[in-house]
Amino acid sequence: MSAFEHYHPSQYSPYIGGHFQLTPHALDVFSPYSGKPVYKTYLAGPDEFEIALQAACSAKTVMQDFPVYHRYRVLMQIAEAISAHREQFATIMAREAGKPLKTAFVEIDRAVQTFQIAAEEAKRLPGELLSIDWHPSGAGKDAIVKYFPIGIVAAITPFNFPLNLVAHKIAPAIAAGCPIVLKPASKTPISALLLAKIIDQTDLPTGALSVLPMDRQTGNQLVTDERFDLLSFTGSSEVGWEMKQRAGKKRVVLELGGNAALVVDQDADLQTAVAKAVKGGFGYAGQSCIHTQRIYVEASRFDDFVALFRDRINDLVIGDPESAETDMSVMINEQHATRIEAWVNEAVAAGATLIAGGNRDCALYAPTVLTNTDKQMKICAQEAFAPVVVIEPFSDFKQAIAAVNDSEFGLQAGIFTFDSRKIYYAFHHLRVGGVIINETPTFRADHMPYGGIKDSGLGREGPRYALLDMLEPKVLVMDHN
Ligand code: NAD
Repeated sequence: MSAFEHYHPSQYSPYIGGHFQLTPHALDVFSPYSGKPVYKTYLAGPDEFEIALQAACSAKTVMQDFPVYHRYRVLMQIAEAISAHREQFATIMAREAGKPLKTAFVEIDRAVQTFQIAAEEAKRLPGELLSIDWHPSGAGKDAIVKYFPIGIVAAITPFNFPLNLVAHKIAPAIAAGCPIVLKPASKTPISALLLAKIIDQTDLPTGALSVLPMDRQTGNQLVTDERFDLLSFTGSSEVGWEMKQRAGKKRVVLELGGNAALVVDQDADLQTAVAKAVKGGFGYAGQSCIHTQRIYVEASRFDDFVALFRDRINDLVIGDPESAETDMSVMINEQHATRIEAWVNEAVAAGATLIAGGNRDCALYAPTVLTNTDKQMKICAQEAFAPVVVIEPFSDFKQAIAAVNDSEFGLQAGIFTFDSRKIYYAFHHLRVGGVIINETPTFRADHMPYGGIKDSGLGREGPRYALLDMLEPKVLVMDHN
């Protein structure tokens, strides 16, 4: 019987050290759209956590010796199987995350690519031959630098990309030869558990992967247990930086939040800029770490930009995530919608002008646009993570770049211009992990280095870059005379 046949279609159990196993602690997963329970899973407790970690410890040597051609084959098997389960993943994401099907399909296709990219990168693990005779003491010696798997990876992922961000942890771990224990977000664990079922059908060594929904107390052991060699966390800045304090000696990679900005200069192609900015601002109801939150438009184009932007918002189809037509749906829960409603109301009370939206129906917050804001307002200074965009005019390009930098965060920035001097100026002066030209900051290709500075994090993802954190260099110095 295949792993797929054990289960009621709406019930998914944790993947503990290579086995799917029910536990006594059921967790209902609710649809943010209907508010009803749509799936059931089970929380791993301390005992199941220990089984998973022991299995990872046992798989450590097996994974280190797992040949690259096997790693490649497993990663490609996973990519193929995700493609084969495209519809099932899309339904799950629409139900557990409120992610519109259109957006879910994009994420699924990206996850396929993430595994394919990692498969390719597994063949290109770094290494170096060094001459050691730079000093008389090294005369007659050469060295080989080889990168070995760091050990066991602890991974924690957020709710907003419940498949592809899980892929960005598991795929490089397999490529590097590291066992991994992953805790998916409690709001959206089902996508990760379907992925575990897929991986269970491949030739990955037993115990090399566990996917454990856990409460915070048990999940905390991923942070503190010294048997892990790397903590790779994606989530909010608040939680991530606090975890780093408690992570002990293990290496820590943090992919955190932002309040990303876009600069639209005088020479921009306005139609394209507006079309992309609306996607960047309202795709998945703004719940992306690189959500286009702040837009600075050159003053002479400001009115046209705003008018076009408002028209485009009116074209958005808003509603049921399971409808193929829907562009934007609910936020992850009503609590988050209420929070953003309060931030917008606070900004308006303090003098901001509402250009569009501002209304809420349960977890659905309308696409909202503000101007005349002040940089101290929460809606500018903090991470909105909601379908709200602030648009302000600027008269000097360098000042616009300074405004982008005037933030606690530094994930990505977008610039619409064809002026190469300005592009180069922005590239040199923006304090972010990525500068994206004639695109919004919401752009990401899965093989590029991705991550932030300042409060936005530490380290980079994208399989090639994530791999580097999952490897440890070791040098062999030899005589050749
Ligand atoms: P979150 O920080 O609330 O939770 C992230 C994960 O950490 C979840 O799995 C959660 O259950 C877990 N968690 C929280 N507290 C914990 C604790 N004390 N011990 C163990 N686990 C704990 O974030 P979220 O609401 O799921 O996701 C949204 C945030 O993620 C936003 O800030 C967004 O910007 C960020 N994010 C960043 C990136 C990136 O690549 N930079 C990508 C996506 C999302």
